[in-house]
Amino acid sequence: DIVRIRRALISVSDKTGLVEFARALEAHGVEILSTGGSAKALRDAGVPVREVSDHTGFPEILDGRVKTLVPQVHGGILGRRDLPEHLAQMEAHNIAPIDLVAVNLYPFEATVARGAAFEDCIENIDIGGPAMIRSAAKNHASVAVLTAPEHFATVIAELNTHGGTRLATRRALAASAYGRTAAYDAAISTWFAAQNGVEYPATFAIAGQLKQTLRYGENPHQSAAFYTAAPARFGVATATQVQGKELSYNNFNDTDAAYECVAEFAEPTVVIVKHANPCGIATAACVADAWDAALACDPVSAFGGIVALNRPLDEATATKISSIFTEVIIAPEATQGAIDILAAKKNLRLLLTGGLPDPSEAGITFKSLAGGFLLQTRDAGRITPHDLKIVTKRAPTPAEIEDLIFAFRVCKHVKSNAIVYAKNLATIGVGAGQMNRVDSARIAAWRGAAAGLDFTGCVVASDAFFPFADGLEAAISAGAKAVIQPGGSIRDAEVIEAADAAGIAMVFTNMRHFRH
Ligand code: 5GP
Repeated sequence: DIVRIRRALISVSDKTGLVEFARALEAHGVEILSTGGSAKALRDAGVPVREVSDHTGFPEILDGRVKTLVPQVHGGILGRRDLPEHLAQMEAHNIAPIDLVAVNLYPFEATVARGAAFEDCIENIDIGGPAMIRSAAKNHASVAVLTAPEHFATVIAELNTHGGTRLATRRALAASAYGRTAAYDAAISTWFAAQNGVEYPATFAIAGQLKQTLRYGENPHQSAAFYTAAPARFGVATATQVQGKELSYNNFNDTDAAYECVAEFAEPTVVIVKHANPCGIATAACVADAWDAALACDPVSAFGGIVALNRPLDEATATKISSIFTEVIIAPEATQGAIDILAAKKNLRLLLTGGLPDPSEAGITFKSLAGGFLLQTRDAGRITPHDLKIVTKRAPTPAEIEDLIFAFRVCKHVKSNAIVYAKNLATIGVGAGQMNRVDSARIAAWRGAAAGLDFTGCVVASDAFFPFADGLEAAISAGAKAVIQPGGSIRDAEVIEAADAAGIAMVFTNMRHFRH
């Protein structure tokens, strides 16, 4: 199953590694065919090369739109070497076999990313490249197809050891090739639909790049992998793992939840997450103080938690965090001193992302369900004090308003039904994932009381409206003095009346933050 390479066609936009690769092919006696720009780069480097147009007898025309879309190229790639009729037809039409195709495509994605004009993007849709890639991948029985610079080394190593390409390698390259053309077309389709003002086109393709295969999924009997997808966003996708064991599927999920949450806050903040829900969040003058307050919220759940910081990890904070069992720390950066302190904890993973994601950035999220997936724009909603409508006789104090906004932003990152109690910019009780709001209110208060926290003068946030007064009453009896919630229930009047009767302040946001 070893195929010797007699003739290779190289046509690359990204010329990284091109010359070294072609030299290595030449050393193996391979005839190199190449398109205009690639041929010039090779000639300039002194590598013998034949222009495709000389080989085919047909010039590159239409500003390069037609360079390789000719039978001499596609026949040479697609012809089956095991069928005498194919070989005879190739011979009759003067078509020479091509055993290796190295193509990387016009940089469509990069052109869109730099905000180029419509016409420019259209010109950067590669036609001949994907056609050659698909032809070569189809005929992987005889042809090797290389679509990324990292494939060069693989193939050269194989030529050096086997004198040709192995079937297993050609099949792997073929699978990768179709992944590349699919991702390319997905990018074009998404962009094109958006140009037409269509947010959800009739077919929607999501393309990702394998970043890491994982040991298992949510449970050990499930398999899993992590893919990155454009557009880039600071977080687990950009993170460098400084130390610690390999991240698991659940680690990735929790770490992402923690980092998206901590990025909501401008001042130094620490979030501790367990099972994708925050179990302690606090904002303070420095992250070390924020850690203390976040931990105080629920020290029981914080054990084995995921910790996210919106500031560089410093020595004082690293010392504090490493004093309890922690799975992952994620931060934009860390001081060398902090890195040295954590080095003693061999299993603890430290991830440094280089930046924080923008919480208001537009984007898309998806969720799979039987036979399909749901797409939606990401919850980029952010409530500011200007959005608040005071609905009670008592208005919240400025300090309460700060706590209310803080608690509501936390709520956005808590699984529904979400109830969050907060005081002095720290959570003191988080009720997550209950099937009714009263239970979330009760659990959050019970949890905080169990941690020995004082609820007097606290505020409470609810991710969605209180359908009845009971949830609110549970919060009032826990000690809440101010409430933030979207409002919009048909029983709003009843809920407002209960708030007024207790003399507490309540504001409506008119924005819901369900999260399931
Ligand atoms: P070069 O820089 O060698 O002139 O062009 C290389 C690029 O042209 C590669 O990205 C390749 O995919 C693309 N390409 C090769 N053949 C064709 C063709 O027939 N039409 C179009 N539109 N692009 C082609």
